[in-house]
Amino acid sequence: MQGLVIKSTGSWYTVLGENQHKYECRIKGKLRMKGLVSTNPVAVGDFVDFELEPEQETAVISKVHDRKNYIIRKSINLSKQVQIIAANLDQACLVVTLASPRTSLGFIDRFLVTAEAYGIPAILIFNKLDLFSDEGLEILANYMELYEGIGYKCYAVSAIEGTHVNTIKELLKDKTSLFSGHSGVGKSSLINQIIPGIALRTGEISDWSDMGKHTTTFAEMFELPFGGKLIDTPGIRELGIADIEPEELAHFFPEMRSRMHGCKFHNCVHINEPGCAILKALDEGDIQPTRYDSYLSIYHKNDTRA
Ligand code: GDP
Ligand code: ZN
Repeated sequence: MQGLVIKSTGSWYTVLGENQHKYECRIKGKLRMKGLVSTNPVAVGDFVDFELEPEQETAVISKVHDRKNYIIRKSINLSKQVQIIAANLDQACLVVTLASPRTSLGFIDRFLVTAEAYGIPAILIFNKLDLFSDEGLEILANYMELYEGIGYKCYAVSAIEGTHVNTIKELLKDKTSLFSGHSGVGKSSLINQIIPGIALRTGEISDWSDMGKHTTTFAEMFELPFGGKLIDTPGIRELGIADIEPEELAHFFPEMRSRMHGCKFHNCVHINEPGCAILKALDEGDIQPTRYDSYLSIYHKNDTRA
């Protein structure tokens, strides 16, 4: 039978069969994947073949269909093993807050690089608009200008008050969208506004030491009542990037990608080379210092990885 994976806990997968029944599935043996070592070769959003186990309620996934794209979780150790979190996405939304709690720009930029690396359009949703003072609104406007200037869609909402939630619904309509965000930014509250009746628990302190226990839901797909699908990632702290070479990193910063052809050296990594078009743009204020800082920080981490 064929089906769509709608929930993953790391060891069990809920698959929605063509008959609209839900099946709890496992993986048996090794599923092959092109060029990737994965501890977890099946992801929410995957189309799979599965077979019912004799005399049991459960089923076994035997094949994963080709993916249009996928996204992985940040590896929690230095091995090259990765965990695929979601597949076949149209867009990836990051819910962020500038205060209570503050999402760091480094975190935002790593998310954006990940989405670029996988060719998935990324969107920033700034939540808790109701908490902003005039000064806060000005800072928000600056951030939105920064990221919109690079080409990312940005929205400001209040999940609590429902402000601009309709705009987000329009954005999600008829698409498959990943929802990600640091704990406490109001991702669950926002999803509750988008999908009335879903009643996700809110205000909980996540305990990351639970990660990896089979009860943790890594990702779960919900049908949107107005058309489309939303993939929540409650058990994912941060998305990750598989195998970006440091020399390739600038490709995943759109404002660098569009300028790096101007560098004197074709293998320029934009750190201290003479005739570097990126350093020049940074100097002239055409590339934002916070973005360049994120570039350096990711570059050096990649450089030293095992
Ligand atoms: P999650 O961890 O990202 O899923 O965040 P939750 O939805 O659980 O929300 C975390 C806390 O922020 C809860 O106490 C919510 O009531 C609160 N919260 C969520 N959205 C908003 C908002 O738009 N404005 C304000 N003031 N608080 C919010
Ligand atoms: Zn350069």
